[in-house]
Amino acid sequence: MKNLPMHDIPYSTQQITDADISAVSDVLRSGWLTQGPTVPRFESAFATHHGVAHAVAVTNATAALHIACLALGAAPGKWVWTSPNSFVASANCALYCGADVDFVDIDPVTRNLSVEALARKLVHAEHTGTLPTVVIPVHFAGLPCDLFAIRALADRYGFKVLEDASHATGASYEGALIGSRYVDASVFSFHPVKIITTGEGGMVTTQDEQLAHRLRLLRSHGVTREAALLELSDAQTGAWYYEQKVLGFNYRMTDLQAALGLSQLGRMDELHRARENLVRRYDELLTDLPLRLPTHQPSPLTRARSAWHLYAVEVEPGPGVADRATVFARMRAQGIMVNVHYQPIHLQPFYRARGFEPGQFPAAEAYYRRAMSIPMYPDLSGAEQAIVVRELILAIQA
Ligand SMILES: *Cc1c(COP(=O)(O)O)cnc(C)c1O
Repeated sequence: MKNLPMHDIPYSTQQITDADISAVSDVLRSGWLTQGPTVPRFESAFATHHGVAHAVAVTNATAALHIACLALGAAPGKWVWTSPNSFVASANCALYCGADVDFVDIDPVTRNLSVEALARKLVHAEHTGTLPTVVIPVHFAGLPCDLFAIRALADRYGFKVLEDASHATGASYEGALIGSRYVDASVFSFHPVKIITTGEGGMVTTQDEQLAHRLRLLRSHGVTREAALLELSDAQTGAWYYEQKVLGFNYRMTDLQAALGLSQLGRMDELHRARENLVRRYDELLTDLPLRLPTHQPSPLTRARSAWHLYAVEVEPGPGVADRATVFARMRAQGIMVNVHYQPIHLQPFYRARGFEPGQFPAAEAYYRRAMSIPMYPDLSGAEQAIVVRELILAIQA
């Protein structure tokens, strides 16, 4: 008989309560599965919670990045820059719009796009006439990027800032929740491994009314029925009448998803506190190991609260220390489903075929070689966390 692993602990998973289940069943019974009242309710609750004017719900964060890039001007002949230490969707969105993609290397401490590297790259791009139209900072693992510094560069060089806050629902920067305070638009993901879930789902937030309007058009076929926007009036036509203004998509969220999102949003603070408690314990229990633990601050000068989507450690090479691949394999063999975030995007075969090479973004590449995400989700129990730590102490010995 095959040996079963000792444990069954994922790196992340959703929390679903009875209240979530009744919220979804209520929609099933209501007759409105999509394009009903629950999506606008979720949008409005999300916007209010984040203190932002507009929230536009879509099918997933990848769709959100796509229409946000389009609405912010990504197009053929334009450049979009992002972090190589992210999921491929952070870069793919620019290519969907026909724009060109480039990357900005990370800060080895925060693992976020480095503001110094960004500033240097902008000086160079100004000389060569290749300044970006959109920059997409990614709040890796939920730790906010240094948004003051990025905003200052955006104002100086005239690019739009689209934050990929897929990891950062509930994170805050200088006392305010992440969501369009220092940026032009923000994107959130509600995939089950993220902070709150709608099964699949995403949201764009913005303070800019025109941008929100454009996002709503792009989300639903580029079609509108709003009387003020029509070329012909209802009087000349009929109540059936609509107009297509731009080439849009069907990126609509369903009311079933929105009901789950609303229910989850209601306990965001509780979910956040559970993650923070786990972080406190990991920080304490892992201090004496040959691991580099995640930092809590975007820079020495700014204050933030991470959403703690991930708890990513770096296995520091040294005498008596197993390498990352070995530690990873041993943890998995015990049924502890550690993961690696992220393989640098520019090293994917697809991006190499577009001319990217190893060595171009050395900090992201060095981080990748040592990185490992250990289990982090609100329902991870104290006993399970103790098992993770115990197995990690064993796995790390050469
Ligand atoms: C998960 C994720 C996405 C994509 O989110 P989906 O909702 O699955 O489309 C984009 N960017 C980052 C950084 C992510 O982690």
